[in-house]
Amino acid sequence: MKIESNKVVIIGSGPAGYTAAIYAARAGLKPILYTGGQPGGQLTTTNDVENFPGYPDGVNGPQMMMDLQKQAERFGTKINYGMVTAVDFNNYPFTLKVDEKLDVVAESVIIATGATAKYLGLPSEEKYANRGVSACAVCDGFFYRGKEVAVVGAGDSAAEEASYLANLCPKVHLIVRRDQMRASKIMQERVINNPKIQIHWNSETEEILGDENEVTGARLFNTITKEKETISISGFFLAIGHKPNTEIFKGILEMDEAEYLVVKPGTTKTNIEGVYAVGDVADRVYRQAITAAGTGCMGALDAEKFLVAKEAEHVSLL
Ligand code: NDP
Repeated sequence: MKIESNKVVIIGSGPAGYTAAIYAARAGLKPILYTGGQPGGQLTTTNDVENFPGYPDGVNGPQMMMDLQKQAERFGTKINYGMVTAVDFNNYPFTLKVDEKLDVVAESVIIATGATAKYLGLPSEEKYANRGVSACAVCDGFFYRGKEVAVVGAGDSAAEEASYLANLCPKVHLIVRRDQMRASKIMQERVINNPKIQIHWNSETEEILGDENEVTGARLFNTITKEKETISISGFFLAIGHKPNTEIFKGILEMDEAEYLVVKPGTTKTNIEGVYAVGDVADRVYRQAITAAGTGCMGALDAEKFLVAKEAEHVSLL
């Protein structure tokens, strides 16, 4: 049963989704936003956001997301707590299934489902989340300036985060699970030649250690020598990749080899007219709240232009 029909449906409630909602609502499009399983997105797991322009004293991540929600609602966005579990983009208007039962009809769709940082799966990661464990050095590195930290991973992200942290911290331990890195040659050289970065080759993290309040160290396991080593650190940064939240679009929308949605350069247009991708779900490089918000704005403007053209087409046929 189809019980709702909408000009713009936004999937996702991070900075990209809410910014798209603010713009679409102010354009009078009465957007409906489905929050997904983690209302507010990745920023709800961050304490202080200090790099979003306009907050000279920083802002608490969950607070910022509540402010964005309020701003979107102020102009008429309808926020629904639900998960889009399937989409039909083959027929127009589009249909989205919410929580596997409700069918929602949309004339345009803005996808802002984000990406999820990969974690090692250790219980201590959860225990110390936001208390020393982070998946974003650019977001949280500043809080560890002057302290020893570790980065786990061996790709470009890990190399970049280790180099970034070495500018703030006296020592960075880079934990690499094999005897080589996957990162590009130039990034690897940067890391290897940085005297502040110590690479622990063939090393896995057995446990993140800490006291009642925060991280104090990590226990590493060398897969070749079978030796264990404890390092003293205040921050533990994961850089083992992200997974874009694109499961429901497989076989429907164009994706790259890492399953990020592909958009036409300089726009938010996917391969289906009327469907737009904004924020981290289509961005494997920058992944910042501000860039997500920027593309959220672009998505709303692209959708608006599409709807105006559709309307004009409809009028000319009458
Ligand atoms: P990648 O998938 O490239 O690398 C992930 C790294 O994490 C790999 O080295 C992998 O090790 C390691 N890893 C995965 N799982 C574990 C685990 N359980 N324990 C320990 N280590 C693990 O992800 P990135 O985020 O680094 O990069 C994603 C894409 O974004 C790439 O295409 C990259 O080039 C790009 N990028 C570009 C940047 C730039 O150009 N400035 C900056 C950042 C990213 P292993 O090698 O053993 O598999």
